[in-house]
Amino acid sequence: MSPSAQISTSVPATTIPTKVMASSSKKATSCACNCSSDAATTSQAIQVQPSRFLSAAAKARPPSAIRSLFPAELIPGMLSLLAGKPNPTTFPIAEISMTLKPDAVDGMGEDGQGKKLEIKGKDLETALQYGYTSGTVSTLKWLTDFQSRVHGREIVNQGDKLDGVAGRTPWRITIGVGSQDLLNKAFEALVNPGDVVLVESPVYTGILPSLEMLKAKIVPIESDSEGLSSVELAKILAEWGTTPLTKGLAAPKLLYTTPTGANPAGTTASDQRKREVLKLAREYDFMIMEDDPYYYLSFEGLGQDPVTRTRSRCYWSLEEEGREVYGTGRVLRFESFSKILAAGLRLGFATGPEEILEAIDMHTAMANLQPSGVAQAVAQRLFDHWGVEGFLRHVDQVASFYEKRRDNFEEKARRILGEVAEWVTPVAGMFLWLKLKLPPSAEGDDQGDSFALISERAKAAGVLAVPGMAFMPRGDKTCYVRTSFSLIEEENVEEAFQRLRGVILDAWKE
Ligand code: PMP
Repeated sequence: MSPSAQISTSVPATTIPTKVMASSSKKATSCACNCSSDAATTSQAIQVQPSRFLSAAAKARPPSAIRSLFPAELIPGMLSLLAGKPNPTTFPIAEISMTLKPDAVDGMGEDGQGKKLEIKGKDLETALQYGYTSGTVSTLKWLTDFQSRVHGREIVNQGDKLDGVAGRTPWRITIGVGSQDLLNKAFEALVNPGDVVLVESPVYTGILPSLEMLKAKIVPIESDSEGLSSVELAKILAEWGTTPLTKGLAAPKLLYTTPTGANPAGTTASDQRKREVLKLAREYDFMIMEDDPYYYLSFEGLGQDPVTRTRSRCYWSLEEEGREVYGTGRVLRFESFSKILAAGLRLGFATGPEEILEAIDMHTAMANLQPSGVAQAVAQRLFDHWGVEGFLRHVDQVASFYEKRRDNFEEKARRILGEVAEWVTPVAGMFLWLKLKLPPSAEGDDQGDSFALISERAKAAGVLAVPGMAFMPRGDKTCYVRTSFSLIEEENVEEAFQRLRGVILDAWKE
């Protein structure tokens, strides 16, 4: 089947997201949505060409005059007078040494104490000096091989931008100061004022300020027990412009979702759900930002061999399935070492199409030059020590820790909160999203409003949690509350739930 595009013209083109469907014979016609520059007449036409999703700000940003010359320093025989780099002989650090916990994966040294890992020599030199905008070469390489192995996508030569295979778009990785840094830069790279961004509801509250600053139009998509609802998404897209939610809005450009152990809902999407959402992204031509910091904190399949066990497919992996017909380059994947190595390392990485990562890197070159070389060297030392197998054993050890905590937390929740709350059992991550049974609020909300109850009364009763309103894309009232089983001492869970139960029951007495 040779890919080409068919544009549905049954709806007014100015506001309705245009369907782009794969078909074997029809050629692209005019189009009012994001897909215009993909529409061409050759069999190569359907390549996603992610650059057309870039924002005006990203397109206008000039490259860094100095950083763009850095690679030339590696040319043999080149004499460099470029450097604003400090002379490393003045750096006072001779070696960085860390000690693993003896009970960490491969953490025991020969002396029965925690294994010592050193960063020295060339690695230390690289760690301490200014480096490349997208990250240290060795770490980028390790992560690229790792991504390819875990998610089954072939490594594409970055210099070979369109390699002649229909629908293929090269991908690569960039490293950031946590995934938050990269999420924020990605939004800036993609969103113009007035652009429509679809977000799951409830949503990770940390992305909302970016979208507000960029003057995005946020369209919330309801969630169910698997997170973002594909049925709801399909309905909203099909009715685009005809309901109060989307009236007068341009076609959506971007969808943001957290597929595994969502923050706050704790939900995890099945591969089938992801396929349905991906299909809609192709039909209606929008990008998907998959924010997946809890991917390795999935409890499903734990106990099997960490190296060979089947893990869920991510959007970025699944988009390959249709590449002959639809092309790739529609998914930007965000991951983080915060939950699986250490949050204070501030290391995250994005995987996706070259054009978008280039825009993110240009932002980094302007804003903070590069991620920390020392943080990357610490992570790299661990990767070298563990290899991919050891790393996968490590992440499963972390996931098992959270699974046990989930079990304890949920058992107590069932016992103490069973009558006053309901929830979906999280199969990944660290959150239990409680739907409280509250009296209707004074404003007439049938399901009640948890805001004052949680932020004032529960606090006064000695228990803290996050009122659900913080995760509502439009700040709507809600009866939900986010609780986390990550840190609380297991022996305190019961008392915390008793206090919560007390304030809920009191609310009914008024
Ligand atoms: N996305 C989600 C869904 C999160 O929960 C968090 C952390 N709270 C982040 C991104 C940011 O993580 P980090 O910057 O530490 O990688």
